[in-house]
Amino acid sequence: MSDIRDLYQQLILDHGRHPRNKQHIDGASYVQVGNNRLCGDKLVVYANEQDGRIEKLCFEGEGCAISMASASLMTEALQGKTLDEAQDLLQRFLRMLQGETVDETGLGKLMVLHGVCDYPARVKCASLSWRALEAALAGQNGDVTTE
Ligand code: ZN
Repeated sequence: MSDIRDLYQQLILDHGRHPRNKQHIDGASYVQVGNNRLCGDKLVVYANEQDGRIEKLCFEGEGCAISMASASLMTEALQGKTLDEAQDLLQRFLRMLQGETVDETGLGKLMVLHGVCDYPARVKCASLSWRALEAALAGQNGDVTTE
């Protein structure tokens, strides 16, 4: 069990230090700002949609390792998914962070963030990019905050 925890820890640190898809998208279909004042995490999520599919998903911003790792893992997990598939994964991931038992199908690497649910302050960090994407896809205006 501790070996698996080490592996999870390493994956989070790796994505936290070297986030994937951390770049701006010009003229993105969806743009949403997320703000977690409690920790100081601030990011912008960009998504391009084509034929009902998220063909490109990126983010920019600064924050703690958990917020960066979660955003990085999100872009990897949801890029190429249909909007329905993305919504399904997004909702299950957020419920998992709240400590609920969820169907783990397709969550894959995202399960490394499961341990975060024991730390309410960290849950806000881990869910920030996902809440931003959720709001973006729902067409909400204004910044997303974790308060
Ligand atoms: Zn944070």
